[in-house]
Amino acid sequence: MTKMQADVVVIGGAVMGASCAYWLTRMSPGLQVIVVERDTSFARSSTALSVASIRQQFSTEVNVAISRFGIGFIRDFQQSLGVDVGVGSLGLKENGYLFLAHSPEGAGQLRDLADMQNRLGAATEVWSPAETQARFPWLQVDDLTAASFGLRDEGWFDNMGLLAGFRAAAKAQGARFITDEVVGVRVEAGKVTGVDLGQGGFIACPVAVNAAGTRAAVVARMAGLDLPVEPRKRTVFVVDAPNARHPDAPLLIDSGFYMRPEQNHWIIATVPQDDGPCAVDDFEPDLNLFEDVIWEQAYNRAPGFDAVKVVRHWVGHYAYNTLDQNAILGPHPDLPSLFFMNGFSGHGLQQSPAIGRGIAEHILTGGWQSLDLSDLSIDRVLKGKPFMELAIV
Ligand SMILES: Cc1cc2nc3c(=O)[nH]c(=O)nc-3n(C[C@H](O)[C@H](O)[C@H](O)COP(=O)(O)OP(=O)(O)OC[C@H]3O[C@@H](n4cnc5c(N)ncnc54)[C@H](O)[C@@H]3O)c2cc1C
Repeated sequence: MTKMQADVVVIGGAVMGASCAYWLTRMSPGLQVIVVERDTSFARSSTALSVASIRQQFSTEVNVAISRFGIGFIRDFQQSLGVDVGVGSLGLKENGYLFLAHSPEGAGQLRDLADMQNRLGAATEVWSPAETQARFPWLQVDDLTAASFGLRDEGWFDNMGLLAGFRAAAKAQGARFITDEVVGVRVEAGKVTGVDLGQGGFIACPVAVNAAGTRAAVVARMAGLDLPVEPRKRTVFVVDAPNARHPDAPLLIDSGFYMRPEQNHWIIATVPQDDGPCAVDDFEPDLNLFEDVIWEQAYNRAPGFDAVKVVRHWVGHYAYNTLDQNAILGPHPDLPSLFFMNGFSGHGLQQSPAIGRGIAEHILTGGWQSLDLSDLSIDRVLKGKPFMELAIV
């Protein structure tokens, strides 16, 4: 059996694990960090299958603060990394998000949220239906009461560039990446002592980090702990609508679907009515969703969707937190040397810079530092007290 030793083992090497390793080795040069990743193609990771967008329009202050840091980090990626690893710009396309309200209450909520977001440094404007149509004349707005739009700091970027940059910078700073599967977490006297690998190896370590995405609950169970995170399937369609080609459109959040342009095409998806857990290896697309659910709604919102062609589709999994669809972070009170960075439910990519930094700081100092992430700590989960994010996409 191969035996290794590390100060910290990170389980899962996609965007969260790589970010954590990057920040740990940046803040503590010489720290021995090993990242274990079972599939270095990342073909089925949420990171690779993401729609890769960032917004400031969240309903909780902590999520806005996380994205405030994220956008700066992503915008000046090379400079932010502080290490030249050949991954320069992430091609941020700042088209904004447009949230739509369909009732007076919904309009009031958008206004309240915009006040909070702007207090934290965002640039959210709330528009009347007429103002919305003046800005985006291809939209049908008759059923709307208001819309909120981020004037800056919202859009989409290169997800795999972000991952590659974190990995390369972490490696350059001394982190070690190995391809294997963690199949056991050893615990003695309430402390992590190491992890067992599928190929027969063992890494002794006093601290481990669960960055296992949709497999987070499986990893937690290896240590005898429960985590309310499950894989949920999302089928994403790439659509050509020749009468509605608007590459400068925002990411539009409507009541039953969302869509954003990708050059001359659209990326478009919905949440299935019967949403529930799926097998971790079930990547069969729900093709009927486009015809049965999305198309009519898209046409009602933008009449240019009268003629459409699905040119491609893919399936990704959310690591869905069934309690409140928010991140679950930090050490577990019953096993403080096992750290969680899980349950991101569809908004984790943009959060990876701030969450990686936060977890690294907590490991190194024993508490939250740059950002107080305690609202997202696992304690609320253990108490069964949801910390709801209303702006869930
Ligand atoms: C369709 C879709 C659209 C999305 N859109 C957005 C968006 O627009 N903006 C946004 O911010 N977020 C978005 N997300 C969410 C975002 O992609 C995820 O929250 C984020 O990528 C999570 O990163 P992760 O590293 O935690 O998980 P993952 O990327 O899933 O990585 C987990 C890794 O752990 C590895 N692993 C698991 N178990 C083990 C083990 N036992 N041993 C070793 N390795 C293991 C896996 O192989 C995997 O590579 C979207 C997700 C999907 C599916």
